[in-house]
Formats: sequence, structure tokens, C-alpha cells
Amino acid sequence: MQHNLVVYNTLTRKKEKFEPIHPNMVGLYVCGPTVYSDVHLGNCRTFVSFDLIFRYLLHLGYKVRYVRNITDAGHLEGDNDEGDDKFAKKAKLEQLEPMEIVQKYTIGFHDVLRLFNTIPPSIEPTATGHISEQIEMIKQIIANGYAYEVNGTVYFDVDKYVQKYNYTILTNRNLEDMLNNTRELGGQDEKRGRLDFALWIKAKPEHIMRWPSPWSVGFPGWHIECSAMSQKYLGDSFDIHGGGMDLAATHHTNEIAQSEACNHVQPAKYWMHTNMLTVNGARMSKSSGNGFLPLQLFSGDHPLLTKGYSPMAVRFFMLQAHYRSTLDFSNDALDAAEKGYKRLMTAISLLDKISPSANNKIDTDLVALKQRCYAAMDDDFNSPILIAELFELVRLINSIYDGKQQVDENTLAEIKLLMQHFVFDVMGLKNDQLEGETDSFDKLMDLVISMRNEAKQNKDFATSDRIRQELAAVGIQLKDSKDGTLWNKI
Ligand code: AMP
Ligand code: ZN
Repeated sequence: MQHNLVVYNTLTRKKEKFEPIHPNMVGLYVCGPTVYSDVHLGNCRTFVSFDLIFRYLLHLGYKVRYVRNITDAGHLEGDNDEGDDKFAKKAKLEQLEPMEIVQKYTIGFHDVLRLFNTIPPSIEPTATGHISEQIEMIKQIIANGYAYEVNGTVYFDVDKYVQKYNYTILTNRNLEDMLNNTRELGGQDEKRGRLDFALWIKAKPEHIMRWPSPWSVGFPGWHIECSAMSQKYLGDSFDIHGGGMDLAATHHTNEIAQSEACNHVQPAKYWMHTNMLTVNGARMSKSSGNGFLPLQLFSGDHPLLTKGYSPMAVRFFMLQAHYRSTLDFSNDALDAAEKGYKRLMTAISLLDKISPSANNKIDTDLVALKQRCYAAMDDDFNSPILIAELFELVRLINSIYDGKQQVDENTLAEIKLLMQHFVFDVMGLKNDQLEGETDSFDKLMDLVISMRNEAKQNKDFATSDRIRQELAAVGIQLKDSKDGTLWNKI
């Protein structure tokens, strides 16, 4: 396989040539959602970004094992070992069992990702389905001397770990500063060091989600879940570990520490982090209440929205920004994205209406354009540059359709294939109109056009003009040519 994919590695803070550990195979782990509430659009951005990455790796011919977990236990509000359990709190609020909460929001998550046309991961393990793997890993970390038990709770020993390893390798922070930013331990605290975090937590009597372990009846810490599940399905060391940027400082930092303390190797060769979706510059989050639910966006049912947007227009909006740039949510930005998406889809549907000619006279070098599309994606999955290149093709298609350029059969097939590969396979877009709908719509247009032709033959120009004008008013343009009347959506 010959290609030049380069990815930005958070671990080294630079772009690196992508070389998988095992030739032609990629192990990819992405932190999945904590299913205690509806996913918001920010969460979706992260999963759409990794869908683009997954799709491009597949397109390049890699055999990809994509593991994305479901966090259905152990995530406390403080992200470490403090605060209420997110599931139990929500269960109380909705008067449901914690597992009913998990089921409800897992289904919602899958429904939304399906609307965004993401490809499901190869394996989607749940934390509760892997408690024994987590217990085994904790046992090994204790045996290696990097964790200790106090009253049934097990803590990771950061002081011991830093004697041999670099705890801040992922974010390059200063350990002293980190310590100074952490609260001092009081007499009540069980842990020895300020940065220590829980691997296993003894359940309080009221805690419902609990499992037996060698230390207590309790539940796992959030971080150990991902370490245990990635190790189980991808091995001690695998190629890419991903997630949102907000996870790097604590969750991923602790994942690296746990895996190294257990297996003495770095878990992932490349760490990839997606940037945040923001609203007026502030990160969209569940806790700050500025979260848009995807369904509100599709229906337009939100005070900040003037109308609804289709899932594909929203996917296009996300792909117009590079995954490592922030993306600010606004009506104007969505309007512009919707227009762009429609222009792209209209041009693609025109491809089926163009009749090839014997001559080929186009002003675009398709070989060079194709190379530029690959170069954009090879450069750390640069979808905005790819989109700019594809709009060169849109311009070309429109110009051929308008009769300003001529295309032969082979070249037309090449243009179609380029669109298929990059727009549908790699960017994961699809035409919003259902296939059945497109079919009947085409037939309806054939009928309208033949009625207009009849009117013209009968010299009833008032009717034929009226048909043209009223179609234009609903966004359909008619074009009379020597091959008959053609139409397209504007
Ligand atoms: P959570 O369900 O909170 O564990 O988050 C699931 C994923 O969404 C994680 O990878 C987060 O980093 C990511 N995420 C959360 N908020 C945002 C946001 N505003 N923009 C992009 N990704 C986000
Ligand atoms: Zn994780």
C-alpha cells in the first residue's frame, strides 16, 4: 500500500508519518459516550470526526478494528473519585433503574449517530460487561507496586509511578503546577498522594451499581474501564487512541499511567484529539446547559434557531472545519453549510443527466485534482481543503451541464468515481432525499415537463411560462436544450 498519511500525535505534539504497528492493520480505540443523558451536538462532532478518520483508513485499504466503548458505570461527577455517580443521580431524577437510564440513552446515541450516517464501530464494549477484565488489570497494577488499597478502595500511586515514568507525557504540563492546582489532602482522605486516583471504589450502602471484587463490593473507576477494554480487544500496544481534547488532561493521562503500570509499555502509538464544538466561544457541554440536542437542530425547535437543518447539512457543517480546530455553532454558519451541501448534491445529481460527447474538452486536470484530494486527506485528515477541491469539480460539472465544456464517457465516469470516493465513502455524506422519493420526484418532473411541452406545441405560452415561473419559485430551474428540457434544483 503506497500512501503518505501524516497524523498529528498529541503525545509528541507534532505531525508524524502514519506507520501502523502491524502492516496494513489498524487498531483504533475511541472513548465513547457516558450514557446518562442525551448526546449533544458537541459529542456528535467528536464521533463524526472519528468516523471521517475511520472511513479514510478503510478507503486506503487498511483492515481497521475500531473499538468505541459505552461508559455505563463508574463515571462520577468529579471525573475521578469524587462526586455523585452520574447514572445513579439521573436514575433518581427520572425515577428509573440506573440500567434503564443506560438503555434509554444508548439507544438514543445509536439513533442519532445513524442519522449522521456514521459507520458503527467493529466492537462496542460496555464497561459493565468487562468488570472482571478491570479487576484483573487492577490486580496486576497492585502486583507491580503501582496501586494500594485502603478500606476496600484501590488507588493508583502517582508518586511511585513518576519515579519511573512521565505522568504528564500527554499534555506536557509541569507536575509541580498540577500538584499546586489540586486540593490538599485532609485527615478524612484515604489516598496518600494528591494526584492519586481511584481504580476501584468501595460502594456506599445506597450505591446500586455494585460488583464483588477482592477488595470490596464496589465499582470501577472511569479511567480503568478504557484501559481494560482497549487492552482486551486491541492488545497492550495499539495504533490510535482518540477522544475529545477535554479528555487528555485527566482521563487519557490516567489511562496511559494505568496501562504502563500494568504492561510496562505505552498503550497507543498515536493519540488523536478532536477539538470542541463551541457556542458563542464557550465549549458546548452537558453541565453548562448550552447543549443543542441533534433532534432540536433537525426540527428547528430551539430558541437560538430560525429553522431546522438536515443531518447531512449538519455533517457537512462539521466537516467544513478541520477536526483539530474549534467549530463555533451559529445560524449563519449552518445556513452557509446548508447552501454548500445543496450545491454539492445538486452537482452530483446533474452527473446522471449529462450526456457524454465524442470529444473531451474540459479545463480541469482531473489527475492533479485527484492527487490534491488525497494530499488533503493525507495531511492529518484535512476535510476543509478536500471540500475546497471538490468545489472545483462542482464548478466543472455545472459548466459541462451548461454546455460550456464537453466531456467524453470515460472522463464522465472518472468524475463520478471521484465524487463517490470522496463525498460518499470518505466524507460519509449522502443525498438527503430518499431514493424512493427521488424516483417519484423524477417521474413527477417528467410529467410536468411533458405538459409544458404540450402547452408550447399548442402555442399556449401563458401556461408554459407559468409552469417555468412557478417551478422557479419552488427552486427548480428548467433549461431547454437540443436534447429536450432539463431541470435542476437551485
Ligand atoms: P462524554 O459523554 O461526556 O463522556 O463525552 C463523549 C465524547 O464527546 C468525548 O470524547 C468528549 O471529549 C466529547 N465532547 C464533549 N463535549 C464536546 C464538545 N463540545 N465538542 C466536541 N466534543 C465534545
Ligand atoms: Zn475512555
